[in-house]
Amino acid sequence: MSEGDVVIDLPLSQRGALRPASRARTDVVQAKDTILYLDGVTVSFDGFRALNALSLVIEPGELRAIIGPNGAGKTTMMDVVTGNTRPDEGTVIFNDAYDLTRLDEAEIANLGIGRKFQKPTVFENLTVFDNIELSLKNLRGAFDTLFARLGADDRRRIDRVFEIVRLGDRRGDMAGSLSHGQKQWLEIGMLLSQGPELMLLDEPVAGMTDAETEQTVSLLRDIAREHSVVVVEHDMEFVRNLDCRVTVLHEGSVLAEGNMDSVQQNRKVIEVYLGR
Ligand code: ADP
Ligand code: MG
Repeated sequence: MSEGDVVIDLPLSQRGALRPASRARTDVVQAKDTILYLDGVTVSFDGFRALNALSLVIEPGELRAIIGPNGAGKTTMMDVVTGNTRPDEGTVIFNDAYDLTRLDEAEIANLGIGRKFQKPTVFENLTVFDNIELSLKNLRGAFDTLFARLGADDRRRIDRVFEIVRLGDRRGDMAGSLSHGQKQWLEIGMLLSQGPELMLLDEPVAGMTDAETEQTVSLLRDIAREHSVVVVEHDMEFVRNLDCRVTVLHEGSVLAEGNMDSVQQNRKVIEVYLGR
């Protein structure tokens, strides 16, 4: 352990915050006005580099799409941000202040990073409303709050979530009776009820009908008005309709970045991905 590595029991709000000493380092490009900052992130599995010196910057309030062939490292990138996977090398900073490589999954979630995995994981035998309510109370963590009545603020927040995920008329129905697409929206609503600053969504429209996919475009654009959103998707028409900056990953690093037209016309992108 070097001199700078003294471990102090800091309150959560300060844990992982960059110390002045590390901010003063000159060999690290400093994160500034970013919600998410990855620099030189490498993850190896038995010598295979799932992420290979990946650098990626997301601005506050940005909606960003990440595309790329299977195995490009898209899910691994999300695993690194949420603390499921520790990078071998590299910098991962949230909100210009928090070094995510020093925090565990629960601490990262508490900082305001919400993640939706590909498969919906709603409680089928609870109502749609109860799913949202449980998720909101889960955030608080304390056992007794599960039995506490909702306050006015919580009710307002839940109403807003229902507006955004367009499930207001299904509040009292069992979550199990929803379509696949509606379950995905419910799970997005469960994340939203926790008020994350940054949401990570892994292939949210996989398995949706065309109509559901179209609605998900406007749903995500609504969400992006109040949150930063990173969405991994394969569906090119969906990504085009999101009308946002697109990052193409390939073999664990960024191959191209720009609007959909520019990446679709990029020769390297055509070769490794779109042209196949
Ligand atoms: P994507 O989401 O872009 O399809 P992934 O991030 O899931 O890609 O995977 C990137 C590469 O890393 C793949 O080759 C995958 O097989 C490999 N990989 C991912 N997770 C593991 C793991 N836990 N152990 C070994 N290899 C893994
Ligand atoms: Mg994946």
